[in-house]
Formats: sequence, structure tokens, C-alpha cells
Amino acid sequence: MQSYDLIVCGAGPAGAMAAATAARKGLKVALLEKCPLPRHKTCGGGTPMVMQDFLYNLVPEAFVESDVLYMRHTWNFADPFLGAINPSETDRRFSLWMVQRSLFDHALVHQAWQAGSQVFDGVAVRSVEVDADQVRVNAQIVKSNGGLSKGSEFTATARYLIGADGANGLTAKAANLRQHRTIALGMEVEFPHQWGTGHPDLRPDVLHLEYGAVQRGYAWVFPKADHLNVGAGIFSLRQGDIRSSHQAREALQKAIFTYLETLQLQYDPTRMKFHAHPLPTWCGREPLHTGDGRILLVGDAAGLINPLFGDGILPAVKSGTIAATCVAEGTTSTYSDRIHAEFASSFDAARRLANLFYQYPHFFYRYGVKYEKSTRLATRLIAGDIQFNNILGRTLLKVGKSMVQDLLPPWMGFVYR
Ligand SMILES: Cc1cc2nc3c(=O)[nH]c(=O)nc-3n(C[C@H](O)[C@H](O)[C@H](O)COP(=O)(O)OP(=O)(O)OC[C@H]3O[C@@H](n4cnc5c(N)ncnc54)[C@H](O)[C@@H]3O)c2cc1C
Repeated sequence: MQSYDLIVCGAGPAGAMAAATAARKGLKVALLEKCPLPRHKTCGGGTPMVMQDFLYNLVPEAFVESDVLYMRHTWNFADPFLGAINPSETDRRFSLWMVQRSLFDHALVHQAWQAGSQVFDGVAVRSVEVDADQVRVNAQIVKSNGGLSKGSEFTATARYLIGADGANGLTAKAANLRQHRTIALGMEVEFPHQWGTGHPDLRPDVLHLEYGAVQRGYAWVFPKADHLNVGAGIFSLRQGDIRSSHQAREALQKAIFTYLETLQLQYDPTRMKFHAHPLPTWCGREPLHTGDGRILLVGDAAGLINPLFGDGILPAVKSGTIAATCVAEGTTSTYSDRIHAEFASSFDAARRLANLFYQYPHFFYRYGVKYEKSTRLATRLIAGDIQFNNILGRTLLKVGKSMVQDLLPPWMGFVYR
């Protein structure tokens, strides 16, 4: 049985980043991943360019497939509005990177390995036991690998465990954390595409967002090198779980088919490979480490998905870095507070906005999304350049004012102004 300073369960962006950070700080780290790597991850793969700050020596050219500068918004696939992320050349430049998760995540795992972590893929953690001074992880080999043969047991101990095992992981449950979750549902299809065919607005620097097709959610088309990631998600749910709802899945599929049709893309419905996956969105401050500070949750396992947009890659990377730093410094008892300081105020405000946005999407589309500065604002929010709590009041006032002005007769609008 091997013994480590830290075991990380799950090699998505949160786990890979945690392992890389801890190994760089001199800890003996094991990174366990149940899937053989590289693995598919159901995801749009859109992430802000500020991700670069976390990549150390990785060059974006290795995995960024498109650099998005515009968003084409629609309501019920009509009333299009093309918003620029950088409307003024003098402002700081932002963009959204489009990555393929299999490549991106693998690059991060490679970085963790280069930093000195031992990486075990095809190793599924089955249970976790906590003693007074260590955590024991029992796993099973699901793919023969080196000296490890399929079906055999793998047991290791460590002083700390980081649970980076995503939305369906077991560490949160094993640690008795995150009893109440808000689960959204996303679905995507990777649709082969040759640039220059289909609708003229299909361009590698434009992503598409549709707000009327899915109740309490939206649909998207994200440009990649040789395909489009076409997807839809249902967000802003009260506490509950829609993972097994057939109705929800049908609604998401229908939105995806309609998107393809309106973008003039030919498809064979029998050959479409849909992937669906839960999104555990932020549902308020809660403990994200055990009382003894031995188990810490990061990324989706910690429910760190933005409740308005559904993005979670950057929060995963940030939380993985913070957790590993706490482990290395011996300050794991401060972990939840540090995560709350980073995300809570902003995500609480995002949640309030999401509840309104998804209840009255048409109003927000007309009076908010189509506002000339909104596309840049959304990108800066995703990048963490500004916080939702700093814009919530102003945004609601702006939307309300525009609505009143629009509804009043012109002379009253003049008086009102
Ligand atoms: C349809 C969809 C679209 C999305 N689009 C975007 C987007 O465009 N931009 C964005 O920022 N976010 C997006 N997200 C959210 C994003 O995918 C997640 O927030 C992100 O992947 C979280 O990273 P993570 O490392 O916490 O978890 P994951 O990436 O889920 O990684 C967890 C890992 O743990 C492994 N694991 C699980 N159980 C075990 C076990 N028992 N033993 C060992 N390993 C285990 C899994 O195999 C997996 O590799 C989307 C999500 C969905 C569902």
C-alpha cells in the first residue's frame, strides 16, 4: 500500500490543477482517475482567456480551437443580435477560448505529472475511510495499466484527500458534505462542420446563444476547429434533481435539432450522439471541508458552477489551486472560508439574477441581452474581472428603466427620463 501527502480523486481541471499545484509545492501526490485518459467530458468547452494565468508553461495554441470575439444572441431562433466582446479598441481585450475538453484536461494532467504527481488512470475510487491521522482510499482498477491489472484492488493512504470527482462523484457523500444540491442538466452533441457551409453567421470567432427555446435555460453553438459543439441546458432550478427527467431530455434534444435546422445544417437524427450530464450549480455558502480538515471538495464536487451561465471550468481550476495551497500550508481549516471569499458574494448575486432571468427571459432578452454593452459585461463576469454583486443592482435598474421607457407613450418616456 502506497502512502502520500495528498490523494486527489478525479482528474478534471479541478483535480489536475490541485495535483499540479501541490506537487510543485513539494508534496507527494497521487492523482486517481476512473476513466482511461484522455477521456470525453460532456461540456461546451468555453472558457475565458484569463485561464492563461493558471497554465504555467502550457501554450494555448496546443488546445485552444477558436478564439471567440462575438456572441450572436437570438430569441426563439429569430430577432438576432450580434454583440462584440470588445466594442472599443481602447478597452482591455477579452475573449472566450473554445477548447475540446479531452485535450484540455489531458494537457492539465500532463502538467500535474510533469510537476511530480503520480497519475493513475483507469482507477475508480470505491470508498473512503478517515482515521485519526490519515485518509484511506479504496479503489478498483478498471483498466489494466503497467503493473496494475483490471479488476484488482488499489489501496492508498494520505494525510489529505481532495475530492475532485465532479457532479456524480462519491467523495462529497463519503465526507458527509453537500447534502442539499441544486442540479441543472446540460446536453451536447459534437457536430462535424466545415467552415464556409451553413448559415453565413457561422464563423470561428462567433458563438451562438438562444434564450427562447428551452424553458429556464438556454441553447448554444460553440465553434471548434472541425466541429460545432451544439448544446442546451436547463438552469435555475429550485433545489431538486432533473437527472432522470425524460421530459427535460426531450426538450433539450428538440432545442439542439432546431438550432441545427435554423443554422442550415444537414443532419441525420439517427446518427447524432447526445451526451447529457448534470451541472451542480452554486446554492449558497456551505462547508466544503470536513471538520478535521482532511477532506476538501473542489470544482463540481463542491457545486462551484455559476448559476446564471453554467460555466464551471475556471471555478474548478481556481478551487483546485486554493485547496492544494491550503494543504501545502497546513491551513485546510480555512479552506471553505477562502472559497467563500472568492466566490460566494458573486455567485449569490448570480443566483438571484438567474432566478429572475430564467423566469422572465423575454424581458431580459429584449431589455438586457440586446443592450450594446451586455456581451462584454457577460464575458467580464465569466472571467471574474467583475463580480455579479457589483453589477446586480445597476443591471436590474437598467433593464427596468428600458422596459418602462419602451412601454410608456413617447411623451411620458420623455418626462420620465
Ligand atoms: C453540457 C455541459 C456543458 C458545459 N459547458 C461548459 C462551458 O462551456 N464552460 C464551462 O466553464 N463549463 C461548462 N460546463 C461545466 C464544466 O464541464 C464543469 O464545471 C467542469 O468540468 C468541472 O470540472 P471538475 O474538474 O470539477 O469536474 P470534471 O471535469 O467532471 O472531472 C471530474 C473527474 O472525476 C472523475 N471521477 C468521478 N468519479 C470518480 C471516482 N470514483 N474515482 C476516480 N475518478 C472519478 C471523472 O471521471 C472526471 O474525470 C458544462 C457542463 C455540461 C454538463
